[in-house]
This record gives sequence, C-alpha cells and structure tokens, in this order.
Amino acid sequence: MSRFIFVTGGVVSGLGKGITASSIALLLKARGYKVFMQKFDPYINVDPGTMSPYQHGEVYVTADGAETDLDLGHYERFIDEELNYSSNCTTGKIFSSVIEKERRGDYLGATVQFVPHITNEIKNKIFEASSTSHADFVITEIGGTIGDIESQVYLESLRQLRNDLGKEKTLFVHTTLIPYIYGSGELKTKPTQHSVIELRGLGIQPDVLVCRCPYKLDDDIKRKLSLYCSIETSNIIDAVDVKNIYQIPLNFYYQKLDEVILKQFNLEIKKSNIEYWEDLVNKVDNLKDEVEIALVGKYIELHDAYISVVESLKHAGYKYNTKININWVDSEKLENLDLKEVFKNSKGIVVPGGFGSRGIEGKIKAITYARENNIPFLGLCLGMQLACIEFARNVCGITSANSTEFDELTNDPIIDLMSDQKQVINMGGTLRLGNYDCKIKKGTLAYKLYNQENIKERHRHRYEFNNAYKNILEKKGLVFSGINEKANLVEIVEIENHPFFIACQFHPEFKSRPTRPHPLFDGFIKNCTKKSSD
Ligand code: GLN
Repeated sequence: MSRFIFVTGGVVSGLGKGITASSIALLLKARGYKVFMQKFDPYINVDPGTMSPYQHGEVYVTADGAETDLDLGHYERFIDEELNYSSNCTTGKIFSSVIEKERRGDYLGATVQFVPHITNEIKNKIFEASSTSHADFVITEIGGTIGDIESQVYLESLRQLRNDLGKEKTLFVHTTLIPYIYGSGELKTKPTQHSVIELRGLGIQPDVLVCRCPYKLDDDIKRKLSLYCSIETSNIIDAVDVKNIYQIPLNFYYQKLDEVILKQFNLEIKKSNIEYWEDLVNKVDNLKDEVEIALVGKYIELHDAYISVVESLKHAGYKYNTKININWVDSEKLENLDLKEVFKNSKGIVVPGGFGSRGIEGKIKAITYARENNIPFLGLCLGMQLACIEFARNVCGITSANSTEFDELTNDPIIDLMSDQKQVINMGGTLRLGNYDCKIKKGTLAYKLYNQENIKERHRHRYEFNNAYKNILEKKGLVFSGINEKANLVEIVEIENHPFFIACQFHPEFKSRPTRPHPLFDGFIKNCTKKSSD
C-alpha cells in the first residue's frame, strides 16, 4: 500500500497549496519514488465542468476525460505523470455516490450519516487512488482553508486515516501564511499558531509546516513556531514569494523537505536527480530575448482562465531562450478597436477555447487580421471553429457562416452539434472529453510539427466542423491536416502560403510540460521568434 501525504491550508486561500503538493511530489519522484496526486474540492458540483471561469478559472482535462480543478494542471506539469478520474473528487461526487448506494440498498437497516458513511466514502477515494496507481506516495490536497464548514468532513476523514494507519503511513503538511507587518518591521507567527490550534481542535497535529512568507524565516521565528505548534524546526519550511513557480521545488529541496518526509516514513533517502529541474529553473531565470504574444479572450482580466495556454507558451519560450509577454486582448472590446494598434507589438496571435457568443465577432476579427497580415496564428478548440468560420466568410464568400452555438438558425452552420450531441439533455460531463485519436496528413505543417502520423490529444467541446462544407473550404486553400478517422471529425486545420496558421479542435495546452513543450506551441513560438533553435 502507498504512503499518504495530506496537504491542508490555513489562514487564507491562495497560498499555493497546489504548488506545495506538486513540489513535494516532484521531489519524491526525483528520489526515485512513484507518485500519484489527488485533490478534494469541497463544493457540491460533481465537477467544475459546469462552472463559469469567473468561479473557477480553467477546467483542466485529463487524458481519461475528467473535467478537473486547475491545480491538476500544476500537478501534471510538475510531476509529468498522467493523472485520471481518481485525481479530482468533489463533495458532489461523494454525496452522489453515497445517495446512489443508499437507494440501491447497500446500507439497508442503517441511518446514513456523515460519520461513517461520508467519511468512509472519502477514505475509499484515497485508497482507490493508491490501488489504481500503485504509487509509493499518494499526495492528497484538501481544497479550501481550515475553518471552512465545507472541509470539515474531509479533515475528519484524514484524522481517522491517521488513526487507522499511524505516523509511518501518513503525513500532514499544513501550509500557512506568515505576514510581514510594516509598522513594526516584523514577520508575525500568530495566524499560523491559530491555524494549527484550529487543526488540532479537529484532532490533527501537522507534521510539517510550509510557511508562505515575503522573507526567509530566521531561527528565532522557527523556534517560536516550533514551541507553539509542537513541530520540530527541521519540519518548518519557508515558502518565500518567488517570481517563477518552478523555483519552489528547489527551495524546498534546499531545506531538505523531501528528506524530512522520507525519514518520517522510514524510507531510504535515495539519490535525487533534481539537477534536471535546477537546469530548467536556471534557464527560466536567464532568458535572453523577449517576445509579445497576443491572447484574445473574453476573460482576460482573469488570467487563471487561460493558465495552461500561458504556461504552454512559456514552455516553448524556454526552448527558444525567450521570455513570453502576453498582450491580453479583450475580444469584446476588439469589435470596435483599431486592430493595427492593438497588435502593433505582437509577434503572434492565439485564440484559445471558450463557450457562448460573447466576444465572438472580436475573435473572428483578430483571426482575419492574423491571416491577412501573415502573423503567426494558433487557434485552440473554439479558436479552430472560429478560424473555419472566418475562412468561410472572408475567403469563400459564405457570409452567413456561423456556429449553431451562437446562431441556432444560421443558414450556413459551418460548426454544428455532432449528431450524438443532439439528444444530450444533461449539461454536466457530456462534452466530447479526453483523449481521441487524430491522424495527420503527410506533407502538412501539422505533420512537420508532430513528425508522426498518429497522435492522441485531449478534448473538451460539444460542437464540430460540419463536413458538408469541407470541399468548398478545401478548394479555397484550407487544409484539413488532422482527422479523427473513426468518427470522421476534423481535428486540425491550417492555411498554406502563410508563415504559420494552424488551429486544432483539441486542447494541446493540457499536454505541454516545462521541459517538453508541445509541438504546436513549439512551432508557433519558433515562428514568432524567427529562431531555428535555442
Ligand atoms: N464552445 C465550443 C464547443 O463546445 C468550443 C469549446 C472549447 O473551446 N473548449 O464546441
């Protein structure tokens, strides 16, 4: 059975619990252990798929089609392991499962209660992650902050687990805030003390404290925290603010956090291969050039909505020794602006995924601008659908071309619902999700970038290119370079005689890794920077 590491958060939200959990996993993997990660989100939605980006930021999609919290994107980018349905669980999922069991009669005779039925269900999700992954470590992050009503039942489950399995199989990491008070010029430990008291009140004594702070903690502060929180100073780790999140695992490594963890579990401290990560961070901190890339979306004030896209651009930037500066372009405002002015410093334009009709015409205008002015263009999911509509309208003269998502009665549904989507009534979990095959046509830009014929990419969409328009668009120069043969669905389109114009129905941003940029982002940034190699 795996060892279990639980990561909780105190004082305030947004401390970087997800990055802390990912960094711990990365360090243990670097020591030769197999790791698996999981997040519990204490909301009633079954998954974040039906939530607005204003509520939730990006929805990250795993290879097996789970719609998950954006923290899973950090997990996969840090540990470079494929996660799955067991990696994200919500209160909605736990309750649905318990209620389904109750109706089936699984608990016949019993009153179904938070303890033990809900707590057992939560514990089972943790054990399921262990048995399906065969990992040495399952690292579980609990969403929310200690004191939230919603997370109480999760903490109770973890308390029981510690009681069931002991200190050799479980470890609690608590992330907190050490604020700096300018008036007195001091770092303050009191909020952390209170947060640990709160956790102890729930029966949990943390083993490790990860303290987010603006400055390094000196020995006096560590001793004080140790005294009040009953945690050895070696187990008090500072998480100083950094400008590059990939620095965090190294900061933990230099403070021997991985050794502290392995010691508690009585496991061998094998040699770490962390040098590859040090090389990456060194590269990221010393990028020679800069390039501006325009990202045209409707949630531009909400950068979390496009986090994987931005990370993927950065990953490709690392390869070409180039810092990526994003020109955040509000698609709604674009409808009335001078595009030349908006894009004057941008060397490439990205139109990412999205839902609904707001801001669509602005995105189409941006695509026209990229196509006509030979600016490298990358369209992702909705971005591909709009590139097809733009091409149909402005190159093929099909002026009423549209998607039935925005105009149900359009005369020219270039983008339409797949036939199997027409019967769908429930909105949750019914998109085309996760990995699907794509066959790439030889001799195309897509083939040059991937350098292979058969690929698999992750999807999250309901609408598709309408094959009835394929011939007309093809005759005018749109190349359908990637197809899902099984369902005869368009996966990639591109334009010849353009420096770089490519768009895909899937989300390549979910597969890019800091040390391994995705081929489409790689090619895009290479063209934007006009570099042949790093
Ligand atoms: N709204 C489009 C669809 O559902 C595109 C979705 C997306 O960009 N993820 O097909």
